[in-house]
Amino acid sequence: MPNQAESDRRRFIRNAGLGLVGAGVLSHGAWSSAQEAAEAEAPDGARIKEFRTLGRTGFKVSDISTGGPLEAGLLRALLDVGVNYIDTAESYGRGASEKVVGEVLKDRDRKSLFISSKLVVKETDTRDTILDRSRQCLERLGTEYLDCMMIHSAPTIAIVKHEGFHEAMRQLKTDGKVRYLGISNHGSQWEEQAETMEQVICGAAADGRFDVMLLVYNFIQQEQGRNALAACREHNIGTTLMKTNPVGGYMGLKQMIEQREKEGQEIPDQYRHILSKLKAVADQADDFIQKNDLNNPAEIRDAAIRFVLSNRDVHTVCVSFRNFDDVDTYVKLSGTALSAPEAKKLSAYRQGCGAIYCRHACGICEANCPRGVPVNTIMRYNHYFEAQGREKYAMAKYAALPTAKGNVCQDCAGHCESACPYGVPVQGLLALAHHRLTLV
Ligand code: SF4
Ligand code: SF4
Repeated sequence: MPNQAESDRRRFIRNAGLGLVGAGVLSHGAWSSAQEAAEAEAPDGARIKEFRTLGRTGFKVSDISTGGPLEAGLLRALLDVGVNYIDTAESYGRGASEKVVGEVLKDRDRKSLFISSKLVVKETDTRDTILDRSRQCLERLGTEYLDCMMIHSAPTIAIVKHEGFHEAMRQLKTDGKVRYLGISNHGSQWEEQAETMEQVICGAAADGRFDVMLLVYNFIQQEQGRNALAACREHNIGTTLMKTNPVGGYMGLKQMIEQREKEGQEIPDQYRHILSKLKAVADQADDFIQKNDLNNPAEIRDAAIRFVLSNRDVHTVCVSFRNFDDVDTYVKLSGTALSAPEAKKLSAYRQGCGAIYCRHACGICEANCPRGVPVNTIMRYNHYFEAQGREKYAMAKYAALPTAKGNVCQDCAGHCESACPYGVPVQGLLALAHHRLTLV
């Protein structure tokens, strides 16, 4: 008897009109007729409806794509419904994610897919270390070539221009092993006081050697992303987005505060004060949500994705799919447009609830922390746990942080909060993130 994952996968293959395109049996030229057939077979099944040109690579990518740690059955289902851009990295599961992609690639038409992987590049890296690691990536992926090799979370322009990386890439391009170069960035890293996402992406765009960028843009964190996207348009660079739906951050926050309050006896006064401040902001946001008919998270999530898709500087939205239901949820948004009522709701949401959302890729307040707490990084790990359901991954990343963590925020004067231009009660968010990411 098939297990649940296999049943779900079969359902998707059926809904995708036998999965012929994803399996490489049909060429992309035959996509339209395959799509029509699929629609005739399964009117309810979600499938990709729009492909956009990925900048100067010229590759037509599905407007909804996938990335992050991947599971083979889920990835097959995604390819079967037309997703053709896969983002992976050397560091995802220490190569395990690349191996999953490699396993799925075996029975696919390689040329119909755009595969992007990433390497963290350190100052100490050399041409040879990068060459060696790139070859290991190719081996794990079981492919002759990589469409794009990115510098993973490039923290500074200096790393963007890393000589050893560029020498290694020149060699790999000559050998036909790598076609394009890219940069990913989601804000400052714990290692150093890095440049902002906007500075790094715009610097990399001007550098001229990069063809694809993976960056953060969503309806709450708009400014940096919009500017970086415009720089990419100017240089005809392909763009892929991550962290496009920020609403997960609100879910469960009040519950968590109440739970901590119930555990009252061990809570020091200062911490109790931080939590009540956070709860006041959460209550205000909640009140706003109820009064303005914004209490349907699924509706806000769909509008959030349509918001980024409505920006034509965006070529594909990279989603971390957690399960088969997510396939329907996100793929059905392909080729759809943001309606005027949805735009109005998002605008209200941003205005009324924006203060409780620590912006991805921001980190403005970090310079004010006397204890060196990496605010942006901790809040990102919290997002992995809470909004993306990647609990183990988030906790392992948090445990590996060599810096001061959210526990030191409990008895602090909150210097970060006074530096935040958005009025985010981040001290409480950090303290709660610590409990969530350590389960204490
Ligand atoms: S708390 Fe404010 S300043 Fe600090 S990272 Fe979050 S949004 Fe940016
Ligand atoms: S609460 Fe204090 S220790 Fe924590 S990040 Fe803010 S300034 Fe740093």
